[in-house]
Amino acid sequence: MREPAATVGVLALQGDVLEHEAAFDDVGVRTRRVRRPSDLEGIDGLVLPGGESTTLSMLLESSGLFAPVAGGLAAGLAVFGTCAGMILLARRVVDGRPDQRTFGVLDCTVRRNGYGPQRNSFEGGADPASDDLEPALGALPAVFIRAPKVITVGPDVEVLATGGADGAGEPPAPVVLRQGRVLAATFHPELTPDRRLHRLFAAMARPRAAQAGR
Ligand code: GLN
Repeated sequence: MREPAATVGVLALQGDVLEHEAAFDDVGVRTRRVRRPSDLEGIDGLVLPGGESTTLSMLLESSGLFAPVAGGLAAGLAVFGTCAGMILLARRVVDGRPDQRTFGVLDCTVRRNGYGPQRNSFEGGADPASDDLEPALGALPAVFIRAPKVITVGPDVEVLATGGADGAGEPPAPVVLRQGRVLAATFHPELTPDRRLHRLFAAMARPRAAQAGR
């Protein structure tokens, strides 16, 4: 029997929504824009795209989405945060704004704009540290735009890839993390043609009925 297809919601308050939609289209996953609480009904996963985490935090509140998204995450909704979206998932944020809220479902500490002014934006690579990121395909191209830097990772968090600025002389930092049904990348996988992270999230967001039947 064919499995029911997943629908992934893409938070569409700000940020690179179109690029995530195109990436999921590439891997055969239907998407829906999430702008208000009713848009969350029936989705199997949610993407929190890049943008500006302080603005996203405010817009999540004013749209009435913060509480229902937090409730969905507590109930096991799969979530994928990229860049600012990762900050929204982190339990601890250094150099954030005092009024900025996060969902706190990813046990890590991130430093906002953690790569410093000289490397505001750069392209580098992310080396897979897990078979789930298909290491045979090599490093993932990684575009960092005022990216957060992961500075601590809790014991229940898997580091799926490490990386950073090529040739910048810094030790590689964790750049892709997973904790249960939470996936996060400090860079922007939707801006390059490599679809490994979207494929992985599509597998994490399989409809619950199909997962129960496995
Ligand atoms: N620096 C941004 C923030 O703090 C994130 C940038 C991005 O998502 N490209 O939210």
